[in-house]
Amino acid sequence: MTELELALSRTWAEINLDALALNVKILRTHLSPSAKFLGVVKANAYGHGMTQCAKKLQDSGADWLAVATIPEGVELRKNGITIPILCLGQTTPDLAPLMADFRITQAVGDSQNAKALSDYAASNDKSIRIHIKVDTGMSRTGFYWPSDDDAKESTARKIFDVCNLPGLYAEGMFTHFAAADGDSDYTREQLSRLLDAREYLRRMGRDFEIVHSAASVGVLDYPDAHLDMGRFGLVLYGYASTETGNEGSNLGLLPVMTVKSRITAVRNLPAGTTISYGRTYTLKRDSVIAVIPAGYADGVHRVLSNNYGVKIHGAACPVLGRVCMDMMMIDVTDVPNVKAGDVAIILDGELAPIAAKNAGTIIHEIVCAPSARVPRVYINNGKMTV
Ligand SMILES: *Cc1c(COP(=O)(O)O)cnc(C)c1O
Repeated sequence: MTELELALSRTWAEINLDALALNVKILRTHLSPSAKFLGVVKANAYGHGMTQCAKKLQDSGADWLAVATIPEGVELRKNGITIPILCLGQTTPDLAPLMADFRITQAVGDSQNAKALSDYAASNDKSIRIHIKVDTGMSRTGFYWPSDDDAKESTARKIFDVCNLPGLYAEGMFTHFAAADGDSDYTREQLSRLLDAREYLRRMGRDFEIVHSAASVGVLDYPDAHLDMGRFGLVLYGYASTETGNEGSNLGLLPVMTVKSRITAVRNLPAGTTISYGRTYTLKRDSVIAVIPAGYADGVHRVLSNNYGVKIHGAACPVLGRVCMDMMMIDVTDVPNVKAGDVAIILDGELAPIAAKNAGTIIHEIVCAPSARVPRVYINNGKMTV
C-alpha cells in the first residue's frame, strides 16, 4: 500500500495548492503595487500544512512569510524556504541563537526582550533582525502608544534606543488591528497611531524600511493601511470574512482545504432507536445511518453534535447524536445507494462558514481544527501527493 493510499483510507484533508497559488495572484491585485506580500503560515498554515503551503507561496511570488514561533521558522528554513520570515509571536530570548542562525526576523515589543536579544547577538558577533511591534489598541503585545505628547516622546525614545542596541538590525515597525472586520473608526484610529509613532521616530532620525499594519480584512477594506506590506492570513486559504466566508467567493478566491472521510459502515436502524452517547437523538423513522470515521479527536468540534451536516453523494446529510472521539453518525435515509467505502465531505468552502456559525466560532478556528491524525494530501499542478 502506498503512503497516498494509506492517507485516503480513513479521514484526510485535501489541500489544493493550485488554489493557494491562484489566491495569491488575486490578492496581489488588491494590494498596493509598491507593498510587499507576506503570507502567514503560522499554526501549520492554518491547518493546511506549513511546509507545502510555504513552498507554494514562495514559488508564487510571496515576498515574506510569517510564523508564530521560532521552531516554525526553523522548520521552514530546513525545508528550502529562502525568503524572509517574520516571527509574529513573542519569543523567549533563549531562542536568540535560532533567530540569528536561521535568519528569522523577530517581532520585538518591549525593551527588556530587545536588550536580551542584543546581549546575545553582540557577544556572539551575530546579528538579529527585528520589527518593532507597536500596540495601538489590540492590547496584546508591543510598545503601548499613548495619547499625551510627553508620553509619546518617551515611548519613541524607548523604541529609538532599542533600534540602536548592538547586534540588532531594526528593519521594520508594525501594529495589528483589533477590529478590522467591524469597527472602522477604531481601525483608522489604530492606523493613525502607528503613523504617529513612525513620525516621532522619523524626527529622531530613525526611519524604517518596512512599516506594516494590515492583515487579511485590513488589506481588503483599508487601502490606506497597506503601507509597505500586507500580511495575508485567512484570505490566502480562500475566505475573506472570518465568519461568513462569502466575500471570499466574490473576490474569486478558492477555498484550499477539503476534508473527506471514507464511510466505514451503513446500517439500517428502526424508528425509536437512540443514537450515540447520552442518547441525545431518537430516530423518528426507520433510518439508514452512515458511520463516518471522524470525531472530535480529528477536529470535528463536539459542539456540532446534532447541529451540522456533511455532504454525501452531493446531498446534505445531518449529524445525528453526539460526535464521538473517533466517529460520528450521519442520516443517509434520503440518499440512495450509500455504501461503506463511499466518500463524505465533512468540511469544504461551503461547510466551513456553517461549522463556524454552529460552533459559535470563526473560520480561522474551523480550518485549524483538523488534528495531526488527519493526513494532509496535496494537489499541486494537478497532481495528488502526500
Ligand atoms: C495571525 C496574524 C495575521 C493574519 O491574520 P488573518 O486575519 O488570518 O489575515 C496577521 N498579523 C498578525 C500579527 C497575526 O498574528
